[in-house]
Amino acid sequence: MKTKTKRQPKLNPAIHPTPVLYFDKYQIQHWPKNLKVLHEQMEALRIRVKEATGYTWDNCHYFITDVYGKPAISISFYSDGVNLWSAVTGTSLGNLETLDHKLIETFVEEIQDGRDRCCQCEKWFSKPLKRYSYAGAVCPGCYNPKVHLTPDTSGD
Ligand SMILES: [Zn+2]
Repeated sequence: MKTKTKRQPKLNPAIHPTPVLYFDKYQIQHWPKNLKVLHEQMEALRIRVKEATGYTWDNCHYFITDVYGKPAISISFYSDGVNLWSAVTGTSLGNLETLDHKLIETFVEEIQDGRDRCCQCEKWFSKPLKRYSYAGAVCPGCYNPKVHLTPDTSGD
């Protein structure tokens, strides 16, 4: 017996979601250890999502979520490493050249507990840090007003 499928309305091209992919922090221990393979698989996933959503740009946001399902870490994939940021404050957590899932899980737990990491001494703090440049943040002990400058937005 043939079933009738409901005709889907044509979408207005102005309506398209920005692809965002969430990964539970416990999933990352099953990711390929080879960063080139991981990068290729994440790129293939991005392209599938792009096609499914009709998204026109070639970017995607990847997040690792905490135990509550909230985004804790933003992650970018490259063939020779991954870049990490706090999804809460935008502070850079640096680049990893190996996929250290235990370290990433530790980062998630610190962020989940409301802490941010100093980019210089790499200690975690509950109080807001001093922001500098694009994604930098330092603790009061590391802050140097001659070094930790706000982003140059003069446009020259
Ligand atoms: Zn510090």
